[in-house]
Amino acid sequence: MRKMTPRELKHAIRLLLTGRKFIKEAPFSSLHEVEKTQFARVCELVTHAYETVPFYRDLYTGVGFDPRDLKGWKDFERLPLVSKDQVIDAYPESFISSSFQLDDLVVSSSSGSGGKPLDVAYPPQTFLKYALATLRLYQMGFGYRPWHRHVYIYTSAYPFDSIFGMYPLHFISTLAPIDEVEKKLLEVNPDLIVCYPSHLRQITEMCSSSVLESLNPKLISVSSEMSTQVERDGLEELFGCPVLDNYSSEELARIASQCLFHTYHVFEDMNYIEILDARDQPTDELGAVVGTNLHNFATPLIRYRQNDFAQVGPSSCPCGRTYRELSNLQGRKNDSFVLPSGRTLTSGFLLDATYEFLLEHRGAIRDFCLIQESSAEILLEVVPGKKWTESIAVSIANRFTEYLEEGMGFRVETVKECEKTRTGKRNPIIRRAALVD
Ligand SMILES: [Zn+2]
Repeated sequence: MRKMTPRELKHAIRLLLTGRKFIKEAPFSSLHEVEKTQFARVCELVTHAYETVPFYRDLYTGVGFDPRDLKGWKDFERLPLVSKDQVIDAYPESFISSSFQLDDLVVSSSSGSGGKPLDVAYPPQTFLKYALATLRLYQMGFGYRPWHRHVYIYTSAYPFDSIFGMYPLHFISTLAPIDEVEKKLLEVNPDLIVCYPSHLRQITEMCSSSVLESLNPKLISVSSEMSTQVERDGLEELFGCPVLDNYSSEELARIASQCLFHTYHVFEDMNYIEILDARDQPTDELGAVVGTNLHNFATPLIRYRQNDFAQVGPSSCPCGRTYRELSNLQGRKNDSFVLPSGRTLTSGFLLDATYEFLLEHRGAIRDFCLIQESSAEILLEVVPGKKWTESIAVSIANRFTEYLEEGMGFRVETVKECEKTRTGKRNPIIRRAALVD
């Protein structure tokens, strides 16, 4: 990612100063107003995409749609959905709006499929909007002020390390050895820690207790990988501060974030989020997350399949935010297991089941990866901690077998390191590709 220019930084600071309404007040807006703004933005985006992005021109022409037909949400719901593979195939030639030059855009890459990465390009001002949304999610956890020290453990450094000396940021690579992480944490003594749940777990398991005790964070913000509320509750107790999860993706940026009541509120002014059933119809039940990013006009993502599952409904959260509640979030790059009968064990269930052992045998498991190797074979890879014993392996296997079907095998293997994704993310649940129907 390129560094920001001084002009962009100045723009950033102006936005920050005027961003208060967006950061603090917008999530309490009347839903009627929110929907009106969303629809106006969606109309603008669809027309823009139709006129300047060859991919959308072809897609919409193919189904006989003209942006002038877009009169209400029912019309919008008739637009074809867009998949990750379609974006990968069309980018950049057919997917970047002719109103933009690729060189002027910020490009964000993430793991794609079939060896091709997924790139999404956006204008710097969109990037700043994302930065404001990020500030919002921190503000949902504590009163984040310009002097607070912020440590983030991530795959790459952001294009700035402060905003004119305010909001200082300290980067730690996801690949840094634990003694380096310890050193940096002690040196910075962060008010805010931002990391993947797996790194937080690594810190709690591997950092010395004197380091952990001397830390005094006001908020820990986790994202990207699946973590469960049970696990985050345990971490809140350990660190003595809120540990809040947010749901984000490279493509749609900030989708939803937890408030202090642990409710995930959809960021309605960042994306228009739909939940669709197996027939791609809107549902109030658990369904596929489909999002339209309301800010990126360079590579518009309209009715984009996020490949996660969740449920969205009206907010009844005591915090008073009107932005809808997202619950039951499942998927997020973690696989579910399919048993021989066809029954599914979701990634959420599998993680909860595994955390049960983690909590029961503290200090025994530094990291784990649960792998469905074939329809009848499950392997649990464990990076053993100091307290690991063979009898723990036996008790895990016995307990886990109860969740499985007759004739299925479950074995535990100790390893030095668990499988990680290309970008160093932990991947605790893997279903081998051969099993995909
Ligand atoms: Zn809330």
